[in-house]
Amino acid sequence: MGQAMHKHIRPQAGIMEIALYQGGSSKIAGRDDVVKLSSNENPFGAGDLARQAYIRAGHDLHRYPSTDHADLRAALGARFGLDPARIICGAGSDEIITFLCQAYAGPGDEVLYSQHGFLMYRISALAAGATPVVAPEQERTTDVDAILAAATKRTKLVFIANPNNPTGTMIPIEDITRLAEKLPPQALLVLDGAYAEYAEGYDGGAALVDARENVVMTRTFSKLYGLGGLRVGWGYGPQHVIDVLNRVRGPFNLSNVQLDVAEAALGDAAHIARSLSENARLRDWLADKLIQTGVPTDRSHANFVLARFRDPEQASACNAALLAEGLIVRQVASYGLPECLRITVGDEAACRRVAHVIGVFMERQA
Ligand SMILES: *Cc1c(COP(=O)(O)O)cnc(C)c1O
Repeated sequence: MGQAMHKHIRPQAGIMEIALYQGGSSKIAGRDDVVKLSSNENPFGAGDLARQAYIRAGHDLHRYPSTDHADLRAALGARFGLDPARIICGAGSDEIITFLCQAYAGPGDEVLYSQHGFLMYRISALAAGATPVVAPEQERTTDVDAILAAATKRTKLVFIANPNNPTGTMIPIEDITRLAEKLPPQALLVLDGAYAEYAEGYDGGAALVDARENVVMTRTFSKLYGLGGLRVGWGYGPQHVIDVLNRVRGPFNLSNVQLDVAEAALGDAAHIARSLSENARLRDWLADKLIQTGVPTDRSHANFVLARFRDPEQASACNAALLAEGLIVRQVASYGLPECLRITVGDEAACRRVAHVIGVFMERQA
């Protein structure tokens, strides 16, 4: 790919500042027994009901899909106790983030997010021509006061992932409520709930959305539901926001296949329960093992742990040791955490292999 700018044909300002998003890698040359723990995917895959719906959807490939996603919105409304009229569905929650930036942020506007926030906030802000602004965190945790201090009269969107990726930390709803109350009046707060289901007793901020006019929640089928490859996410917000987002959404942004499979996944209570309980059990087991071997991690509320090493060199060396054993985890230097590795909670065998390799690696470091 040539980097040179064309003499006359130029993209909008900001576009060339976008660093291409690197997905978690999935291959190691010469090995076919790799375990991919780099993209926070469900180790059990999609559930049976989703797989069956996928096969059924093959009979309707010649049909245009629904433009209003009424069935999926109704199912989401029933499942989470939300008003279906204030739900919007997209190709992953990434697309909802894109809609928000496209609709609310342009040249001269600021999009604010926290230090170790999701890379898509910056990418979508730049793609819309807006200016990304970063607020510092405290101990790898969202700092509401730092965000409020960084907010200006140009701030149009504030993104917070709760729990956050790649740190796994979260802040209490009381803090988020205070943030929503104190933001400048033109700023819309976006609560990215990609991992909300993993945080026990947390509604992703749905009640706060209902109570206010300046809060939106985004959710996804990519993590707990095991459908990262399908690309379905959704947003819940005040009516005035959903009306705006529906104007920038393409009428056929989701296929029949996406809509039907997502709806089936939502009703697969057995798969959801098993995924949640295994994740909680193995996440805590893995975190304890890491701490015992001298690798600290913050308490994670998601489906991954962030392993902290002495320095970036030690993190890279441990990453190499894991790769040599066919285990692919995520280096997170692009999130400002070069001394860390983000490890998706796999199935029990994968977690045991990870703990073993890191244990041996740390013994040799001593
Ligand atoms: C994985 C993830 C998403 C989900 O993205 P999709 O487009 O729905 O697959 C959103 N936000 C964060 C913080 C994530 O880690």
